[in-house]
Amino acid sequence: MTTTSPATNDTATERSLPVVPHWIDGGEYPSRSGRTAPVFDPALGVETKRVALADGDDIAAAVASATAAFPAWAETSLAKRQGILFKFRELLDARKGELAEIITSEHGKVLSDALGEISRGQEVVEFATGIAHHLKGEYSEQVSTGVDVYSIRQPLGVVAVISPFNFPAMVPAWFFPIAIATGNTVVLKPSEKDPSAALWLAALWKEAGLPDGVFTVLNGDKEAVDGLLTHPDVAAVSFVGSTPIARYVYETGTAHGKRVQALGGAKNHMLVLPDADLDLTADSAINAGFGSAGERCMAISVVVAVEPVADELVAKIRERMAGLRVGDGRSACDIGPLVTGQHRDRVASYIDVAAEDGATVVVDGRDVNPDGDANGFWLGPTLLDRVPTTSRAYTEEIFGPVLSVVRVGSYEEGVALINAGAFGNGTAIFTNDGGAARRFQREVQVGMIGVNVPIPVPVATFSFGGWKDSLFGDTKAHGAEGVRFYTQLKAITSRWLDPSHGGIELGFPQNR
Ligand code: NAD
Repeated sequence: MTTTSPATNDTATERSLPVVPHWIDGGEYPSRSGRTAPVFDPALGVETKRVALADGDDIAAAVASATAAFPAWAETSLAKRQGILFKFRELLDARKGELAEIITSEHGKVLSDALGEISRGQEVVEFATGIAHHLKGEYSEQVSTGVDVYSIRQPLGVVAVISPFNFPAMVPAWFFPIAIATGNTVVLKPSEKDPSAALWLAALWKEAGLPDGVFTVLNGDKEAVDGLLTHPDVAAVSFVGSTPIARYVYETGTAHGKRVQALGGAKNHMLVLPDADLDLTADSAINAGFGSAGERCMAISVVVAVEPVADELVAKIRERMAGLRVGDGRSACDIGPLVTGQHRDRVASYIDVAAEDGATVVVDGRDVNPDGDANGFWLGPTLLDRVPTTSRAYTEEIFGPVLSVVRVGSYEEGVALINAGAFGNGTAIFTNDGGAARRFQREVQVGMIGVNVPIPVPVATFSFGGWKDSLFGDTKAHGAEGVRFYTQLKAITSRWLDPSHGGIELGFPQNR
């Protein structure tokens, strides 16, 4: 079993591996920090490259380039910005296969799933091609005699995007198309576990005609994140990752005067009512529990079965699990490896935790026979039944192919359980009762809800984000909220003089 090794660059092996650089001023920018971290091919279980870890000089160079590019980009007409976005969209659509292969080689997810995440990111690019429409302000004529008031939205400056490993293309694409379209310049700090997608996207922006410095990639770890959070020239930060880091990023960024949206972890429940179609429900539990090896913030990790359906539902899920193929994401399997050996071991440890706490291990993914290299970071789909809600296997985010079943006696008990949790990212109800579904959407304290839809990721015209410990800040990603996050509002009160104007009046302006 291979695990991640600490950041260093001393050994001969490390020196012989290619190093993923930064992208600054429109080109690759080798780090001078001397620090690197390993990047693995998870299906082979081997380190295939290193990634540069930025130091203070790299951070300064990245932000300086983005700062220098800002005035001209903010001044560029909406028509010209949209033209570049259209070109970027066309290039991405034509060449997404290349990007999918890069994602699979560093993340491990199967190729079809990598293509899926690119398509969802492309949706946001398409939304941003209409930015002239989304930026339209408001206008009120004659609010006072001869006076009109209107509003405009202007860009913030340099914005940082800090992203997690599990969607190396889609999560950055939730943010950068809108940030760029609204006239900001972007510094993307991708996950150090799968950094190459960001470099590929940077080269694509250049090909699409984006001026140098408008899109920058700064690779790194905590040092890079802290450098961006405290840099006086960074105006705003969009973060996605685990809850403890999201909270830290929100607190540190706002303490340094920045606008911050920080999306955190999740523990998503699927509530199954007795009248649900159990075949649809079992299929959905499989798709949402084990797709991308459960490394999705919108994965379903808990099935809450309202009795008497649990026995039948567990049997149907188990039956379907027998047909799932775990293996190399490049070979038409259903489920790829986990991202690192260390993460695989952590996820697997929850199976013991659940068993020790009294859960029934219905299917143990540690027994998997993968269609791939023996050294890959494999863990097969795992099903745990009767998981006690006091167990860490229930309360903590596992972020792997481990699906828990909790049995409850009523709809009310199920909703109370969901609402008692710390997270509020996504949830779903499976039922044929429209009234129950409507009640659920009103009562459940979660940001994104599916009705007979297991992974309710909103389309790009709506906004993505959870409640409670799943989102720090008050603005979600993309859609109208994304446009608001990356712009600041001005209200203009104007009067064009006519021959009747004049006269001194020191009282507070009133409408007449
Ligand atoms: P992570 O929190 O470990 O890392 C996210 C980013 O933070 C990375 O760029 C990383 O370099 C940086 N980082 C890590 N440790 C840091 C530290 N101590 N100080 C400053 N920066 C640090 O998350 P991950 O493991 O890459 O991604 C998985 C997590 O992301 C899961 O918890 C998942 O639920 C969450 N996620 C949430 C959403 C959402 O929309 N809410 C979407 C995708 C993933």
